[in-house]
Amino acid sequence: MSKSLQAIRGMNDILPEQTPLWRYFEGTVARLLDNYGYRQIRMPIVEFTELFKRSIGEVTDIVEKEMYTFDDRNGDSLTLRPEGTAACVRAVLEHGITGGGQVQKLWYIGPMFRHERPQKGRYRQFHQIGLEVFNLEGPDIDAELIVMTWRLWGELGLRDAVKLELNSLGTSESRGRYREALVEFLSAHVDKLDEDSQRRLKTNPLRVLDTKHPETQAVLVDAPKMADYLDDESRAHFEGLKARLDAVGIPYVINPKLVRGLDYYSKTVFEWVTDKLGAQGTVCAGGRYDGLVEQMGGKPTPGVGFAMGIERLVLMLEALDKVPEELSRQVDVYLCAFGEAAELAALALSERIRDQLPNLRLQINAGAGSFKSQFKKADKSGALYALILGDDELAQQVVGFKPLRGQGEQQSIAWDALAAHLATCVVQG
Ligand code: ATP
Ligand code: MG
Repeated sequence: MSKSLQAIRGMNDILPEQTPLWRYFEGTVARLLDNYGYRQIRMPIVEFTELFKRSIGEVTDIVEKEMYTFDDRNGDSLTLRPEGTAACVRAVLEHGITGGGQVQKLWYIGPMFRHERPQKGRYRQFHQIGLEVFNLEGPDIDAELIVMTWRLWGELGLRDAVKLELNSLGTSESRGRYREALVEFLSAHVDKLDEDSQRRLKTNPLRVLDTKHPETQAVLVDAPKMADYLDDESRAHFEGLKARLDAVGIPYVINPKLVRGLDYYSKTVFEWVTDKLGAQGTVCAGGRYDGLVEQMGGKPTPGVGFAMGIERLVLMLEALDKVPEELSRQVDVYLCAFGEAAELAALALSERIRDQLPNLRLQINAGAGSFKSQFKKADKSGALYALILGDDELAQQVVGFKPLRGQGEQQSIAWDALAAHLATCVVQG
């Protein structure tokens, strides 16, 4: 097939068979966020490249090698957003909605773009639901974010399959002191580090902690620990968070090597990880970024947020067989009409029924083939009932009402009584 007729590698169509599960997932999250008082914000998909460089950090994987960057026709350098936090901070600053210390609890959903090596759970266009909270600095809000995701895993049936990892990166001062100690230690072992880590040692030493390289990992066993460098305030914050998670009964493990890829994090960082997806195990990740807004030119504004990868969670729901049964049925009632006059009547009747039962999922199929072939379609649609309207039914102003899933015999129902009858036998969400 010609290349222009293929989607770009790592950018996927989400086909009609898959969208019910996506909508179920997105709808569940949206309802939960509504219930906790979070409000949706929608940002553009493209921003000035500079925004991401400034907020994410020049020496991160994203900015160094993953961004889709291009010059537009004005010669401005633009980038398809690789994540949502930068644009969200830009938006709150631009609209001045945090500058007076107002609390903002915001969430967003949409595609993100990173030029990575495509594989299961890792794509070049992927989708996140993320949220950001501004002007709340205590551990209670960090806890709320985690509690909310814990509730989400509960609703989705995923609690047993995910694990919470936590760490504190401290304030930028304590992180600075730790960085110095880490660099000193690693420099003494530089010949044992893998190449990537040697490079990171110079550019972004905390990222060395993140290495997958066994030899470097062996060196790290004796490396200084961030926990020993935390200032009192960060320590108290972390204890406060843990106490709240304990109070709700959310299990966690402290992972001192959890540093997150981006420069802007401070104090709390966390990841929800799973072993059900192979190498792409992080399904939700976030943390606190108290310095970011100021660094981007705003007033000092505490912030905390997270983002979850929708593809990975959808994959998990499938892998663990947590796709709700009812998603397999997208049609309640399938109306088959035969003959020109009956088709007209069927259209008018279906509109009357929709007026009375606005949530009914009714599909009408007129003029499409023989009785037998229409019936096959009705059955294949997954509908619970077929309605039949031919010349005889038209003359008597009735429909044939045929259960398709073995719930009894076919009967004849008067048009006037049809909506009431359907209301009793189709359970509507
Ligand atoms: P990873 O370590 O897997 O590369 P990350 O730390 O780069 O993840 P974040 O920037 O924290 O990821 O994004 C939050 C979430 O978005 C991730 O936990 C993951 O679920 C999802 N995600 C990130 N990159 C991708 C991708 N290329 N394809 C699919 N999902 C992704
Ligand atoms: Mg990544």
